[in-house]
Amino acid sequence: MAHPPDIETAVIGGGVIGLAIAVACANKGQEAIVFERNEDVGREVSSRSSEVIHAGIYYPKGSLKAQACVAGRKRLYEFAERNAVPAKRIGKLIVATTSAEIAVLQKFEGLAYANGVEDLRWLTAADARALEPDVGCVAALFSPSTGIIDSHALMKALEGCLQAGNGSVVLRSQLRSALCLPDGTFELEIASGTEISKLTARNLFVAGGLGMASLRDKLPFGNGYEPPKTRFAKGHYFTLQGRAPFQHLVYPVPVDGGLGTHLTLDLQGTARFGPDVQWIDRIDYMFDDPDGKRRADFEHSIRRYWPALPDGALEPGYTGIRPKISSKGEPPADFEIHGPERHGVPRMVALYGIESPGLTSCLALADYCVKLLGTQ
Ligand SMILES: Cc1cc2nc3c(=O)[nH]c(=O)nc-3n(C[C@H](O)[C@H](O)[C@H](O)COP(=O)(O)OP(=O)(O)OC[C@H]3O[C@@H](n4cnc5c(N)ncnc54)[C@H](O)[C@@H]3O)c2cc1C
Repeated sequence: MAHPPDIETAVIGGGVIGLAIAVACANKGQEAIVFERNEDVGREVSSRSSEVIHAGIYYPKGSLKAQACVAGRKRLYEFAERNAVPAKRIGKLIVATTSAEIAVLQKFEGLAYANGVEDLRWLTAADARALEPDVGCVAALFSPSTGIIDSHALMKALEGCLQAGNGSVVLRSQLRSALCLPDGTFELEIASGTEISKLTARNLFVAGGLGMASLRDKLPFGNGYEPPKTRFAKGHYFTLQGRAPFQHLVYPVPVDGGLGTHLTLDLQGTARFGPDVQWIDRIDYMFDDPDGKRRADFEHSIRRYWPALPDGALEPGYTGIRPKISSKGEPPADFEIHGPERHGVPRMVALYGIESPGLTSCLALADYCVKLLGTQ
């Protein structure tokens, strides 16, 4: 007689996405165990972001990014309120600093509307200055539904929901490889320090963020399936010494690979600028500015929309790394979430390229993944 699997659902990766998936499974009454390779949850992509709840403005109509961002944003505000996660709808200005950039804002207005974001407002330069006296622009789009959230508190709240249901997080546990057994369950090889253990799971979600690069050939995909290749794009943040000059987020028009050197505020009111885009070959979080060129580039970009930025006011902050599945110079890729129909293996879902707006989208993506698994 076949043995039942050791666990019902295994989720690889204790970032915001893996945690949200596990909570969605637990909410359906399933047992869900998250395996996380680090000593705590959220030590990688999820804790090194801008912590912005995006409205859903930039993404192509019908894309998974657009749908998950708009649906996820609403869900995230509700979740934050219900679970006492600090979050605030503070609104954002996307600024045109030349008349040529107004056309870019017009394009975003159209995209946003197509995505169901219907609350954008045009601001003249004078309107923008009435909201933010220090901003420099020729026009701006104002997004009132954009906000900020404490991403660490969010992950702790998700972990709490999981533990209150039928789930848990197992730390310092790295998936080395997975096999598909003849009865259709998965055999997972998990390394915890020097110890290697094997256990079986009926369902498998793989939400490894940057770790998807090294899991590429370790998962039991069907013949002929080629998983997307994960590439790394580092972003640096500088923080502002002293009082933040703005009450709202301020974004310039996007650049290749990112949203431009924007100003965000954390919930304590500290201003930070970034992230820039540096394509790298291996995971390395070092804040790298040996000759001060990065700081000078930041100052130049910021002064386009904040001409009064004082000299020497920027302090090196932190870095984050985007898991990209597009290459330098290519248009941004959509989230790629592959289920049985795509890779040929029942009851397994693998997630690739979960860059921004992944934090905003986490709850919507979790439901999408559970549906894609196609069990119950
Ligand atoms: C610079 C930057 C700014 C961003 N800003 C925003 C923003 O303002 N708003 C927004 O909505 N989104 C933003 N994002 C995107 C958002 O942060 C991500 O989409 C989201 O955090 C991804 O979560 P994740 O769970 O997929 O990845 P992660 O948080 O990296 O989680 C994956 C986890 O898997 C674990 N893992 C990997 N391999 C294994 C393995 N083999 N075994 C066990 N565990 C493993 C890792 O240790 C990690 O903890 C930003 C991202 C970056 C990099």
